[in-house]
Amino acid sequence: MDFQVSEKMQAVIAMMTEFVDKELIPLEPEFLRKDFRELLPELAEKRRMVKQMELWAPNHPRECGGMGLNLMEHGLVSEVLGRSPLGHYVFGCQAPDAGNVEILHKYGTEAQKEKYLLPLVAGEIRSCFSMTEVDMPGSNPVMMDTTAVKEGGDYVINGQKWYSTAADGAAFAIVMAVTNPDDPPHLRASMIIVPTDTPGFNLVRNISVMGHAGSDYFSHAEILYQSCRVPQANLLGPEGWGFVIAQERLGPGRIHHCMRWIGICQRALELMCRRAAKRVITMDGKTLATRQIIQAWIAESAAEIQAARLMTLHAAWKIETLGAKAARDEISLIKFYVADVLQKVVDRALQVHGGLGMTDDTILAFFYRHERAARIYDGADEVHKMSVAKRMLKRTS
Ligand SMILES: Cc1cc2nc3c(=O)[nH]c(=O)nc-3n(C[C@H](O)[C@H](O)[C@H](O)COP(=O)(O)OP(=O)(O)OC[C@H]3O[C@@H](n4cnc5c(N)ncnc54)[C@H](O)[C@@H]3O)c2cc1C
Repeated sequence: MDFQVSEKMQAVIAMMTEFVDKELIPLEPEFLRKDFRELLPELAEKRRMVKQMELWAPNHPRECGGMGLNLMEHGLVSEVLGRSPLGHYVFGCQAPDAGNVEILHKYGTEAQKEKYLLPLVAGEIRSCFSMTEVDMPGSNPVMMDTTAVKEGGDYVINGQKWYSTAADGAAFAIVMAVTNPDDPPHLRASMIIVPTDTPGFNLVRNISVMGHAGSDYFSHAEILYQSCRVPQANLLGPEGWGFVIAQERLGPGRIHHCMRWIGICQRALELMCRRAAKRVITMDGKTLATRQIIQAWIAESAAEIQAARLMTLHAAWKIETLGAKAARDEISLIKFYVADVLQKVVDRALQVHGGLGMTDDTILAFFYRHERAARIYDGADEVHKMSVAKRMLKRTS
């Protein structure tokens, strides 16, 4: 076992940390106050700076214009960038584009790569991933109502999706739709690229999530596909392989998310310590930091963050060395464990800030609202716990 971080990665992490601290964290008050769209010109300038520093698209392949970091290296990067909600976006490695890049790179035709992959990696366009449906359980997505029927040389798509993150302003969606209704459940659906200016692609609304509908990249849309017609050449990967490809997309994606959450925890812990050390709570000048209960929260948070980090890096290592299938248990374990640590640490930090924690004068309330979803997307806690336990029980019997 070697916990050494290479010199190259130490340098990358140092540069990124400095950038997040100096360029992005100061933008957060504006980010919390304004419509995200208003911030785009300023963020475009930050993106330009990142490109100039050759730190753009850390996880994407070199041949497409990224840094080509491996999964463990990108895990370390994801933690640093996660310290600010703007980090991943400004460095060109934000979800859901990151996952879409991976599958376009692996399954895209040359024409699809030219038209969608290269401008996506370059940050010239954005995309969304449109799988979850309003009336069907996302936890069991083989139950899917959206259909794509062949007609002439086209697919005609009909269905109602929601939670298509970042669809507002995206150039295209990767849509999951049933193409082979008579095949076994896991081979019924396919992934199809749908440009968002196609007639029949109707963005109904940005859903209000925890009181905030958001805009542009920071939003989650409901989309109605109504006789939405795209050429059959827009099929991504083999027909019927939608769930096979989706599964591949989720493995590394969970590493990215978990490390991002650890970055959030680290930031929350820093804020918690700073506030505890500064906040005077007695007439004789004692601070919150003198109280054992606060000290226990700090120590427990530090221990949980470190456990979460090591578990996640280990899962990344296992995916890299043995493949995502061999790492199924580890991926499920981190998904619910790190989401739980995230919720606990952000909650403690908010509590230490008292009334201030509930305001948007710090980033904590944003984290509290927006990151509650960590226990739901990419597989709800219960689904991951159940699948790990089932496999363990099978091995035992
Ligand atoms: C912020 C956010 C962003 C998202 N982004 C995207 C996106 O970009 N693209 C996309 O397609 N989707 C996205 N989603 C949707 C997400 O993938 C689904 O919400 C998720 O898969 C759960 O599906 P559901 O909401 O239909 O809940 P359901 O499947 O109805 O499940 C509801 C609850 O039931 C429980 N449950 C479910 N199954 C079991 C079981 N077997 N045993 C015990 N309990 C169970 C769990 O507690 C679960 O939370 C996003 C969701 C959120 C909140």
